[in-house]
Amino acid sequence: MSKQAVIVVDMLNDFVTGALGCDRGRAIVPYIAKLIGEARKKDIPVIYANDCHIKGIDHELKLWGDHAIKGTEGAEVIPELKPEDGDHVIPKRRYSGFYQTDMDMLLNELGTDTVIITGLHAHMCCRHTAADAYYRGYDIIVPRETTDSFTEEDYEGGLKYLQEVYGAKICSLDELLADM
Ligand code: ZN
Repeated sequence: MSKQAVIVVDMLNDFVTGALGCDRGRAIVPYIAKLIGEARKKDIPVIYANDCHIKGIDHELKLWGDHAIKGTEGAEVIPELKPEDGDHVIPKRRYSGFYQTDMDMLLNELGTDTVIITGLHAHMCCRHTAADAYYRGYDIIVPRETTDSFTEEDYEGGLKYLQEVYGAKICSLDELLADM
């Protein structure tokens, strides 16, 4: 049996309803809520990888404009998916949840060998998080209802890339839950 952890990428006010909000981002919320609810019941760690940018400094803000600025409401996890006691929250300043963060150390200490990657966006922060997970030897699972992108094209392209390049298992949420 694999030792799993769920990573929730950038389900923050600014990505769902704020500066970079989109309908497709809102549509995945109930699926992630269901997944992390089940994970908590089974003592599978839930780890939030949250954009937490420094205003006027972070490189990424030049491309995307201000979003998820440290200390603002936009940088908080959306109310429907609020972290609970026992969850882990990792702030990040780049697309990847691993880059210059405690993610790898935490996963190691949790004994994780498989990461379930969810959140926004499939072709960007999820993809870069998956790349870093793959480099470090983790297996990757992506339930297709728990991630999305601004467009269908980016979403489908994102999932295809994860599958082909990082060997990610793309499955339905029900399939994953039946197996978890
Ligand atoms: Zn960002």
